[in-house]
Amino acid sequence: MFNKILIANRGEIALRVIRAAREMGIRSVAVHSTADSDAMHVRMADESVCIGPPSSTQSYLSIPSIIAACEITGAEAVHPGYGFLSENAAFVQIVQDHDLTFIGPTADHIRVMGDKITAKDTMRKLGVPCVPGSEGGVDTLEDAKRIGEEMGYPVIIKATAGGGGKGMKVAQTAADMERAFMTARAEGKSNFGNDEVYIEKYLTTPRHIEIQVFGDGKGRAVHLGERDCSLQRRHQKVFEEAPGPTITQEERDRIGKICADACANINYIGAGTIEFLYENGEFYFIEMNTRLQVEHPVTEGIFGVDLVREQIRVASGLPMSFTQEDLKINGHAIEVRINAERLPNFAPCPGRITQYHAPGGLGVRMDSALYDGYSIPPYYDSLIGKLIVHGRDRPEALARLQRALGELIVDGVDTTIPLFDALLQEPDIHSGNYNIHWLEHWLETHLQPA
Ligand code: ADP
Repeated sequence: MFNKILIANRGEIALRVIRAAREMGIRSVAVHSTADSDAMHVRMADESVCIGPPSSTQSYLSIPSIIAACEITGAEAVHPGYGFLSENAAFVQIVQDHDLTFIGPTADHIRVMGDKITAKDTMRKLGVPCVPGSEGGVDTLEDAKRIGEEMGYPVIIKATAGGGGKGMKVAQTAADMERAFMTARAEGKSNFGNDEVYIEKYLTTPRHIEIQVFGDGKGRAVHLGERDCSLQRRHQKVFEEAPGPTITQEERDRIGKICADACANINYIGAGTIEFLYENGEFYFIEMNTRLQVEHPVTEGIFGVDLVREQIRVASGLPMSFTQEDLKINGHAIEVRINAERLPNFAPCPGRITQYHAPGGLGVRMDSALYDGYSIPPYYDSLIGKLIVHGRDRPEALARLQRALGELIVDGVDTTIPLFDALLQEPDIHSGNYNIHWLEHWLETHLQPA
């Protein structure tokens, strides 16, 4: 096992990794920008290294600075968290070239899954059901129009390098195609340096269901059921739960086995998420994320396992500590993402926290790097905390969420807490009757932009 690991991240996820390391008796090294000198992850780690100015390109994304921080502190492995360098294959290669261990999958797996066209092709060959769509990339508007006609509208044009909801455009009819095709290409180019796009049938009422997988890199892999992340704004998740309110044990076993087998087949190592759209009882693969997800705690809640601990274990060469048979679902878990954003426009709202009080009690977990007097810097993501609740069943988890939100105090900045208070008044949330468009429609009618 490692003696010391470096966490190439910040905020709540850096704390999450530091906590797992400490429980395992591993020393932790935090890295930080000058804007984060007072951040909680710096205070909580055993050591810290300043790696650059506020801009993330010069700090959290600066590979030479991170490698230098490993060398200075003697860290043997790097945990990337999510975002930043977590899905950067070149980074993984450089880490390994310096005789360090990357706590995550191989550079090859990241590369294959990072290109959505290659990912889809690979998954299809591994027997994973996919959204019907173009075979590979679509280069010209003429081809795009022909495929649109053949497949039938609506269709979605997606940048193969896309992520975080960027580089995706829907064409409702043939008349929309030119705009959608050109915009998706332009967004792919400007955000990801790659203008290749592909086309998929646009599913009109799906749920977003994702399967958590875990592999040992030696041909053994398991699944940890699904998360339903259908409540989204601009293709970004805001509320996640496990198990999915509409998924039966039979469906879970079937799709879970397909995913675990696919991962075993490619010798996948560590945590991964295979994302699907789910409509009329069918699963359609959309992409695989080769990292720990923001919403991993709901899976930890219902299975009672520590996914970060497991990531560190397999990266150090130890076997997984559970088998598929060990993994039994217990109850229901829900996560809500608390962002420093001003409603109704969700404008980022950095600033000084004048008062912070985290909720507690049975079945409540608050993953956050906030503290009284902390100043949220304006340079990074607006996620400031995740409130995760666990109950014996879904109604109990919802009641607990409402109770915990009532205890949570974040003063000094605007947050998305009122959004969740309002959502919990909605019968559809209690019945689980929502799909990926539900929240956008609800926002249009309930939160009128100022
Ligand atoms: P990203 O990598 O940007 O997160 P994804 O491919 O994972 O993009 O898709 C994100 C979200 O976009 C999905 O959860 C879903 O809401 C929507 N989406 C993606 N593909 C389709 C599709 N074929 N039909 C309908 N909605 C889609």
